Amino acid sequence: MSALTRRAWLAGLGLVTASAAGALGYRAWRDRAPAAPPARNEAGALVWRNWSGVAHAYPQTRAAPASEGELAALLRTAHAPIRAVGAGHSFTALAATQGTLLSLDRLTGLVSHDAANHEAVVRAGARLGDLGPALSAIGQEMANLPDINRQTLAGAMATGTHGTGQGLRALHGEALSLRIVTPRGDIIDCDEVRNAGLYQCARVGLGAFGIVTQARLRNKALTRIRKRVALVALEEAYEQWPALVAAHRNAEMYVIPFTGLAATIVADETDDPVRPRGPDQDSAFLMALKGLRDWLGWSASARRAAAQALLANTPAEEAVDEGWRLLSNDRPHRFNEMEYHLPADAQIAALREVMGAIETHRSDVFFPIEVRRIAPDEAWLSPFYQRESGSIAVHAYYKDDHQFFFDLIEPIFRRHDGRPHWGKLHSLRAPDLAGLYPRWREAMDVRRELDPDGRLLNDYLRGLLIDA
Ligand SMILES: Cc1cc2nc3c(=O)[nH]c(=O)nc-3n(C[C@H](O)[C@H](O)[C@H](O)COP(=O)(O)OP(=O)(O)OC[C@H]3O[C@@H](n4cnc5c(N)ncnc54)[C@H](O)[C@@H]3O)c2cc1C
Repeated sequence: MSALTRRAWLAGLGLVTASAAGALGYRAWRDRAPAAPPARNEAGALVWRNWSGVAHAYPQTRAAPASEGELAALLRTAHAPIRAVGAGHSFTALAATQGTLLSLDRLTGLVSHDAANHEAVVRAGARLGDLGPALSAIGQEMANLPDINRQTLAGAMATGTHGTGQGLRALHGEALSLRIVTPRGDIIDCDEVRNAGLYQCARVGLGAFGIVTQARLRNKALTRIRKRVALVALEEAYEQWPALVAAHRNAEMYVIPFTGLAATIVADETDDPVRPRGPDQDSAFLMALKGLRDWLGWSASARRAAAQALLANTPAEEAVDEGWRLLSNDRPHRFNEMEYHLPADAQIAALREVMGAIETHRSDVFFPIEVRRIAPDEAWLSPFYQRESGSIAVHAYYKDDHQFFFDLIEPIFRRHDGRPHWGKLHSLRAPDLAGLYPRWREAMDVRRELDPDGRLLNDYLRGLLIDA
């Protein structure tokens, strides 16, 4: 090899090594966790953070009353803002407070049940994951469940937490009555007849209509379901969605950006013998999508070809078990999320726009987009109020930028008349929200009467419920 050729070869090698090191360096830089807030503030108060880490606060007082009486006494004197917290799984600053953070972790479990009507009275601090086996032991199950089961019952209902399935309401839609402790320390029972206005507000009450201590749930007789997960071509998934929703008790899909693929998930009741779900595959699948983004994010066509080669022949998975064992999942990889609930008929058109926007502008996105169906209900602040809804949820890895939710995606949701999930990120404030909820003014009257001094409101809630 001549000296010139050798020099050129070495220079080329140097360039390749430098760009590989640069690429690795860039990846390491991008993969850094966001800075954590200090563990204590200047006054010595311990930090509280939500699940994704995007919201935090330093509550002056933390309380976990062991009875309704203790809770009532506490509410009369506690430092405002008084904010109830469940499992802290909301993405927004709903529970953040520099006043009193109130947990119902000591008010859990079943109170009583009615075997003939499949109803159960449940304490509001119960985790959904604990209710599954407790209800199963009395031959009941909740009518539907969300994607995870770490939430408390009260926290889940307060934000309109839902699962998926035509004809299946969100969790609060099955709450036949609530018991509430007001900021004045009164204990009130409400349902469609007694204190009906409070009942319609507090079912999706954001912790602003008193503290819910228990709920009577309309459950169903315990059954087994068969759950099936399959990967299909994206266009096929769009076209099949209405039929899938109509044909199955639960139907859901995850459309996967930059792959041309979607995962469809359906579940139906069955008498078949138990075939337990295997170990979690979702996390490995998600990290494979991240790997494709990290290494091939610069070329949409290379990324799609690699995804199809890797994933397209993945066999369908099936499991048979009681619903509470199959409907919810583990989600060990943290993320941030925006979800809107749209009129069901607008769902696929909006979804196509969302996918188009992401694939055109955001090659960093690798999380699948979640698509679900929810039946209407009558709670005044329910995003499903008198509307058959199709939801679309966009996620971003907790280490990644999620500003595009607001700049790129939210305008699409708003154009399609969407209502935001109360527990997930959105930019709407009282004037926007008032236009989306036909019973808004009545709900605000109920809130003012219950809490005239706004002791249950933090800054975030003032922006949602009051600021004009
Ligand atoms: C990984 C993950 C998966 C998720 N999957 C889904 C899903 O499939 N479907 C869906 O709809 N949502 C989903 N969510 C959102 C989540 O269900 C909601 O944000 C829910 O509110 C969280 O419940 P929590 O117990 O953590 O309540 P928190 O987030 O702690 O609190 C939520 C609200 O409830 C209020 N609250 C809590 N306890 C009481 C009480 N006793 N009385 C009155 N108000 C109270 C709080 O003040 C607050 O306003 C998911 C979130 C995560 C992080």
